[in-house]
Amino acid sequence: MYFIDPHVHMVSRTTDDYEIMARMGCTAISEPAFWAGYDRGSVEGFRDYFRQLTEFEAKRAAAVGIQHYTWLCINAKEAENVELSREVIAMIPEFLDKPNVLGIGEIGLNKNTPNECTIFREHLELAAKTDELILIHTPHLSDKYKGTRMIIDMIKENSKIDPGRVLIDHVEEHTVKLALDNGFWCGMTLYPTTKCTPARAADIIEMVGDERIMANSAGDWGPSKPTAVADFIMEMRKRGLSEAKIKKVVYENPLGFFSLSKRFQFTPPEQRGE
Ligand SMILES: [Zn+2]
Repeated sequence: MYFIDPHVHMVSRTTDDYEIMARMGCTAISEPAFWAGYDRGSVEGFRDYFRQLTEFEAKRAAAVGIQHYTWLCINAKEAENVELSREVIAMIPEFLDKPNVLGIGEIGLNKNTPNECTIFREHLELAAKTDELILIHTPHLSDKYKGTRMIIDMIKENSKIDPGRVLIDHVEEHTVKLALDNGFWCGMTLYPTTKCTPARAADIIEMVGDERIMANSAGDWGPSKPTAVADFIMEMRKRGLSEAKIKKVVYENPLGFFSLSKRFQFTPPEQRGE
């Protein structure tokens, strides 16, 4: 079965990972901008990173037949440097006409601090002004419910933002309904240790259904597995979920959300090479 991984940080992965993902049926990915593992020192560091995301990674993915899309922002972990964050937000529009950019992300909260909220709101303002889709990172573990609540409240404050054009990522059992009931799309992250395992994600599908929900590996430089979406497909099959339902979660839903971006262009795998 073909699948799309809607959240994976391929700048941290090898070309072998791209090849394995392609062999398992991955046909497209989207890569949000994220924290590099260290704080970048200047806006030029981000400009170079955005060039990597919009130029080099797209080529590396295309070489194995994977379509690569991306999202731009400064991560919440770096939002304590408000001045640098504002310089990055002011620079993002330089890249918004690149063909593989889907919108602003992954923005959100990390420790739920006042500076993170300030920079989150300024990203929302940029997305509203430029009519871009939004991809949201929700905090880890004990901060998750409170952070998700705060994020939803800040989005609702901004009347120009339609929840139907926003994806709330890293949802778990205690936050998935909060996202869906408020009209958002949502993503489950399949991590080996924290966030969701494939089994927990399958439980969530059985619990909330298959509308506006998808799953990703969030593969990055830490313990993570870029083939986790394929594991999730196996888990759903083991439980006897229908092929149509599985396809909706791992392929049609990400496609449906991405299609809301004015730049999104996609060739289905069956039509390639014609
Ligand atoms: Zn991420």
